[in-house]
Amino acid sequence: MSAVDLIDIRKSYANGSPVLHGLSMQIQAGEFIVIVGPSGCGKSTLLRLIAGLERADSGEIRIGEQRANDLPPQHRDIAMIFQNYALYPHMSVRENIAFGLELRGMAKAERNARADSVAHTLQLTPYLDRKPAALSGGQRQRVAMGRAMARETSIFLMDEPLSNLDNALRIAMRTEIKELHRQLGATMVYVTHDQTEALSLADRIAVMKDGHLLQFDTPEAIYDRP
Ligand code: ADP
Ligand code: ADP
Repeated sequence: MSAVDLIDIRKSYANGSPVLHGLSMQIQAGEFIVIVGPSGCGKSTLLRLIAGLERADSGEIRIGEQRANDLPPQHRDIAMIFQNYALYPHMSVRENIAFGLELRGMAKAERNARADSVAHTLQLTPYLDRKPAALSGGQRQRVAMGRAMARETSIFLMDEPLSNLDNALRIAMRTEIKELHRQLGATMVYVTHDQTEALSLADRIAVMKDGHLLQFDTPEAIYDRP
């Protein structure tokens, strides 16, 4: 079953030239997809369309067999993790992880219980009452992942989630993300500039250029060409 099915998607921004020109891509449930390509080729736009943060000009977006073009972000079975974490500085780790659940009408006790359980999985329990400023870069990134996990969605979109971390942390977090994928059995769509990251994470790599899908295949098929 497809988790995400993009059919002939076109997208332009106001006063801008087209960013995506008829892009189609079928992502299977449980797959780890990595999207690579030069800056400005439309990778973030593609993620934002899947998340519902942008609207396609034409084409169809299907999420789990349902037409999703007109579905608001909070009604999509999706969580997105950004490069800059987007944590709230005045909120504790617990509140940051639970953020968003309130909008769904979940009671406070249940929100906190879910946040504590996610924090346990991510080894953040000792930091639940701290503010983001009192955390390391890797811990902040885990809080951002925790917020996404708390939504209990089956599709995770990650836009260069590790690009602000130093090298050692990046390698450690890469391993954690892989392990998380294995544990959750979720579908991952992951944007990166880093070829090593793409090779180590991806079931399939989507190579984009100028708003087109150039190649979409296994890492071996894409990088092991003579
Ligand atoms: P990538 O993630 O591959 O770097 P983006 O999807 O961010 O590419 O951007 C693709 C193109 O669309 C770029 O030319 C960028 O300047 C433009 N763009 C992105 N977001 C907006 C926006 N909100 N308004 C206008 N143009 C945008
Ligand atoms: P990235 O390539 O990592 O997405 P950018 O600096 O291109 O980083 O984009 C950062 C933010 O600015 C994104 O939310 C994107 O949608 C927006 N953006 C990018 N290009 C433009 C643009 N030309 N006009 C308006 N917003 C833009």
